[in-house]
Amino acid sequence: LILGCRGTLGGAEYLKYKDPKQPLNARINDLLKRMTLAEKIGQMSQIERENATATDVLKTYFIGSVLSGGGSVPAPQASVETWVNMVNGMQKAALSTRLGIPIIYGIDAVHGHNNVYKATVFPHNVGLGATRDPALVKKIGAATALEVRATGIPYVFAPCVAVCRDPRWGRCYESYSEDPNLVKEMTEIIPGLQGDIPANSQKGVPFVAGKRNVAACAKHYVGDGGTYKGINENNTIISQHGLLSIHMPPYYSAVIKGVSTVMVSFTSWNGVKMHANHYLVTDFLKNKLRFRGFVISDWQGIDRITSPPHANYSYSIQAGIHAGIDMVMIPFTYTEFIKDLTYQVQNNVIPMSRINDAVRRILRVKFTMGLFENPYADNSLADQLGKKEHRDLAREAVRKSLVLLKNGKSANDPMLPLPKKAKKILVAGSHADNLGYQCGGWTITWQGLSGNNNSIGTTVLDAVKATVDPSTEVIFSESPDPEFVKQNIFSYAIVVVGEHPYAETEGDNLNLTIPYPGPSVIQNVCSRIKCVVIIISGRPLVIKPYIGMIDSLVAAWLPGTEGQGVADVLFGDYGFSGKLSRTWFKSVEQLPMNFDDRHYDPLFPYGFGLTTMPSKAN
Ligand code: BGC
Repeated sequence: LILGCRGTLGGAEYLKYKDPKQPLNARINDLLKRMTLAEKIGQMSQIERENATATDVLKTYFIGSVLSGGGSVPAPQASVETWVNMVNGMQKAALSTRLGIPIIYGIDAVHGHNNVYKATVFPHNVGLGATRDPALVKKIGAATALEVRATGIPYVFAPCVAVCRDPRWGRCYESYSEDPNLVKEMTEIIPGLQGDIPANSQKGVPFVAGKRNVAACAKHYVGDGGTYKGINENNTIISQHGLLSIHMPPYYSAVIKGVSTVMVSFTSWNGVKMHANHYLVTDFLKNKLRFRGFVISDWQGIDRITSPPHANYSYSIQAGIHAGIDMVMIPFTYTEFIKDLTYQVQNNVIPMSRINDAVRRILRVKFTMGLFENPYADNSLADQLGKKEHRDLAREAVRKSLVLLKNGKSANDPMLPLPKKAKKILVAGSHADNLGYQCGGWTITWQGLSGNNNSIGTTVLDAVKATVDPSTEVIFSESPDPEFVKQNIFSYAIVVVGEHPYAETEGDNLNLTIPYPGPSVIQNVCSRIKCVVIIISGRPLVIKPYIGMIDSLVAAWLPGTEGQGVADVLFGDYGFSGKLSRTWFKSVEQLPMNFDDRHYDPLFPYGFGLTTMPSKAN
């Protein structure tokens, strides 16, 4: 068929919005004026994957977006092909509607493509903050984008740019730092995920370079990391100056870097729910910062405007849409939402101009991403998932994220790096041989998993074994008793303890002690032989009571699948270089305590980290 110059394709009408040669705004305007109210409200609706597999739902309601919430996957250990078929199937349904507007599928790829079996799992953000290496984080963004696109998905709910001010918060590990400037620097992940914006691009306009990039989402706007006692989804009590100088800076740079979307926080600011905050969402983010992408609600976020949630859905919808939310994450209650919002628009409770603004923003992202031209998965990307280059990058990130807090009992007698050649060494602790623990929450499932069979990667134990001289005997015991430690003549021990996986509210913790049996393992081993303790955790834990007994101490954060990075540094192939992205407190009574506080009395200050040189012997 030959396309007539201004005319028809085989008799079909020329559709300006489908013509990629048309300017962006012309396409948006053309499409918007063709849309019915039902089609507009459908665009604003994002539903859970489970509901969308019945493809009629997408067609009946003209749904604009689908998500995998938490760890929602088509099947356990689903292959790339299964993912692609699922997403393509949904896309096909969307494209078969009257106007053929593609869906945008979103997923929580927050440290690599973490829901997907065999994907590269990068360190969680707290560890990336410790690398102090924005260029590395940008590369991680690009690698993540490729792995996500390999499964046919064009949109990630990342990065979390929270400035966590209290480690008692269950999401603290999703934050790069307590320091707004460091979090700001780490927004370099955005051009990694989305591709570099052209120099002549307008500030605040979303930009996604191409088929190998994904739309990003800066979350959770704003002040999510500042809640009272670190209680998840709670109230952030702070002056406007405090909010703007501590929690807002990452959003300034995210918007300048062309971030496509911003997710609103479950939290409140001085008692006002963010999902209902017209001033911050519309006046500040959209009008003052001139953000032109779309604002998305959090999971049932508008329901939670009222307490209890969903108590007055009509009111919540009105408040949320009025505040400036464009796409509403309504995993399950979409029929109620659509019906109610339609009624409110028809009865002038919500003006049509607000709906048009929301749809314009959603279409702008879809057009800039090239979703109309390339709606389906690119099969040539299938081999990107978990590929060697990405694992090497993750391993480099692990190496750079390790923070050496203590090196030998005295400065004159450093213990690290360890010799590769030794008679017999002990590797102990529940976290020494557990990929699930290394990855933490948001891995395979929402809350994360324990055990080794759920991801592909290298545990610390695997890594130690692969690194030492073949003549070195490596003995592993999860929880060795004192007799065992005494009877064997070990050259030294590597003790790996820490937190068990958690996500969101489930991770809120007022005590921050090392979970059982960690303390007794430290006690049993370190009081008897020379030891290095490696802590696998999403945040600083109470370590002061044991510090005298421990010869060397390393914070490894939640390193992900590439545990080899730990051994690379421990045995001196590389030096330690990581710097604390958070203050290490002495006791929880001091919390919240941050680097810029007047009364600052930490165990290890923000930015602390000993260094070692690579060992010549290797
Ligand atoms: C979290 C978000 C996440 C969303 C979708 C929410 O509970 O707060 O960070 O993107 O779920 O899974």
